[in-house]
Amino acid sequence: MSTNDILFLAEFDAGQATRSALELAAGAAALAAQSGGEAVALAYGPGAADGAAGLGAHGAARCVVLGDERRPAVVHAPAATAVAREGALALLAPATPNGRDLAAALVGSLGLPAFGPVRAVRLVDGTLETEQATLQGAVITTSRPNEGAPSPSVVLVLANTFTPIEGGTGSAAVSTAPTDDGESGLARATIAESQPAEATVVNLEEATVIVAGGRGVGSQEGFGVLQELADVLGGAVGASRAAADAGWVPYQLQIGQTGKVVKPSLYIAVGISGAIQHRVGMQSAEHVIAINRDPDAPIGEFADLFVVGDLFGVVPALTDELRRRRGE
Ligand SMILES: Cc1cc2nc3c(=O)[nH]c(=O)nc-3n(C[C@H](O)[C@H](O)[C@H](O)COP(=O)(O)OP(=O)(O)OC[C@H]3O[C@@H](n4cnc5c(N)ncnc54)[C@H](O)[C@@H]3O)c2cc1C
Repeated sequence: MSTNDILFLAEFDAGQATRSALELAAGAAALAAQSGGEAVALAYGPGAADGAAGLGAHGAARCVVLGDERRPAVVHAPAATAVAREGALALLAPATPNGRDLAAALVGSLGLPAFGPVRAVRLVDGTLETEQATLQGAVITTSRPNEGAPSPSVVLVLANTFTPIEGGTGSAAVSTAPTDDGESGLARATIAESQPAEATVVNLEEATVIVAGGRGVGSQEGFGVLQELADVLGGAVGASRAAADAGWVPYQLQIGQTGKVVKPSLYIAVGISGAIQHRVGMQSAEHVIAINRDPDAPIGEFADLFVVGDLFGVVPALTDELRRRRGE
């Protein structure tokens, strides 16, 4: 391991690298190309052992397998800590529940500098620099580790910050992390019971298109109209807190200050006024389309395209038009 290397957490599920793993592989490869080090994956989850070498096609030079079983991600903290201790410039973690758990354990056990969730990370004159929305999105802050701070810096990265490398052919050199000696107690943690997520719940943090509904949608049935549009776009449905509080959708779909922070390529806000507490969860979206019948709704101030109209007219018409263009 070299102090110029860029480590990244690569989660596997059902035998596949997750979207966040592929995004971070691309980000780590770009940073490593500048730092003169290598992109090194720390892979865990079902399928990690078999899929580790495949991360080479997405930018990883090497891959250390922390574990291949379905277990709480935090059990891999001692192994990840041992790898991080060998030295690296940065460790990129996805801003997902597992990524946050592991990142927090690393920061806590090694006293490392922590950043995030960030919407950009780069090297400036050899120094790591991150970009993050603060003060509820009113200010974009850039941060760097203090001079002499221990490394690696641990950086929690929002989904869609990097674009996966597709069509690559490389293969990563694979090694296996030494098993934990059990002293930490974490090694004994297992999943006692797991329940399948409700069909409507997806990993919003990884969605590239989100169709989000608010109080204006009016009912659980109303969300069916949004789901149809999301299906046509290959996207996911999200919601404001007002919609979640009303019980029309589960809380896992809530976006905002007390919900999820998302960064899709396209965010379609339907019947959402654009309160600051909602905005902080979606303002990093690349493109925002708002559909609202109130021409003075605050969301119109920061949407790229503001459609003024009744959602029950606009959304089905948009879905039909998209289907028509696809010849469906
Ligand atoms: C501490 C705290 C934390 C919070 N955290 C969050 C959070 O995480 N996420 C969050 O979203 N909120 C959060 N809130 C709540 C937030 O302040 C707003 O109350 C909430 O975002 C409003 O949701 P909304 O936009 O769906 O509803 P509203 O503000 O009521 O807006 C509904 C919109 O729908 C439009 N509309 C109505 N009918 C139609 C129609 N038929 N066609 C088209 N448009 C229509 C209206 O013109 C209106 O603009 C938080 C508040 C506090 C105090």
